[in-house]
Amino acid sequence: MSWWVSAPVAETVVGNGTSTAPGPAPAAPLAPGGAPRRVTRWTEVHPISPYLMVIAAAPLVETKLGETACGFGTSSRCVPQMVYTAPEQANYMPGPFDAADSIVTFFARLIAPFPFEKLAHLQSSTRFGGMENATEIFYSDGAFRRHTMNTELISHETAHQWFGDAVTERDWPELWLSEGFATYFQELWTRYSRGDSVFRAELVRNRERILADRRVATLPVIDTTESAHLMALLDANSYQKGGWVLHMLRRELGDSAFFRGLRIYFRAHEYGNATSNDLERALEQSSGRSLHAFFDQWLRRPGYPELTVRWTYDAAAHAVRVRVAQGDRFGYFGVPLTVALRDAAGDTQRATIDVAAAAETSAEIPVTLAAPPTALVADPDVALLARITVP
Ligand SMILES: [Zn+2]
Repeated sequence: MSWWVSAPVAETVVGNGTSTAPGPAPAAPLAPGGAPRRVTRWTEVHPISPYLMVIAAAPLVETKLGETACGFGTSSRCVPQMVYTAPEQANYMPGPFDAADSIVTFFARLIAPFPFEKLAHLQSSTRFGGMENATEIFYSDGAFRRHTMNTELISHETAHQWFGDAVTERDWPELWLSEGFATYFQELWTRYSRGDSVFRAELVRNRERILADRRVATLPVIDTTESAHLMALLDANSYQKGGWVLHMLRRELGDSAFFRGLRIYFRAHEYGNATSNDLERALEQSSGRSLHAFFDQWLRRPGYPELTVRWTYDAAAHAVRVRVAQGDRFGYFGVPLTVALRDAAGDTQRATIDVAAAAETSAEIPVTLAAPPTALVADPDVALLARITVP
């Protein structure tokens, strides 16, 4: 795919891929007023979807971030990165973009080498906070002017270069394959760069957002009913719940099978399209488990489990009996529920209950604490998307 752009010589032109010799191109006409123009050509050699194609032409100043993520490039050893800003923001650079090298390296280690030739970050007039155009991310003008650009946004848009751009959802109802992935990979970057407690706090915040959302309660993540207002799909289902679905897959399958499955999925569909079924098959291959019920309950039905956890301590048996009652507003979910038992001294023990897709599940947990447990904490590791009440 190539762009030939005729623009006034005073403007910087940036397109997808790399700048190449214009070759035979229409002669650049003079702009109104006689300002001289120049024809430039940008070429992306990998197939990309039309919504990721873009050109910038403006009086932009380039700040080079250098050759980054060396060893993880696709067309060369390293990934050239740069930022284009209005001249008056140039002294704010590189600012948070000094993390751009680590971000690309981190994702490349987890998934695959960076799939394109370069990565440019641009101050732009996009109406979104950021738009993940292939090889040239557009960020909102305001984030540069107010100096509120942050590594969370940069990592979200950068993750899209793999998920969304190199592997694109086959159709809009599968948008979570783009936004859910970018949401979760941003959170993984947060965990890597800022630690587990910040990561968990973000998951908790997103879970609260999901539990309060009306669309999540009425529509599945893979929403095939929305055809007139596709922008409505940019919702808590595609972003926050999609991200949470990946988090639960990672928790259930373990890091090794989870990331191996994502690499299988990425490799099979790089520079092409994919569906949730493709992801399901790749993760089944890596984990050796059937994930049909998981994908069905989390992606093809609205909502989440609503659990009420009651417990009693049986001193004679030195065991805790747990009863989990499940509401049926969204149908029943089969989920693993981890609980932590705590005694008066503050010692804890964890156990995981296989909550059945049924109205009630009972379990008995042999207590290994020295003293009788005085409290039960449900989901202490923030691993389950559910509304949980412990009366
Ligand atoms: Zn996004």
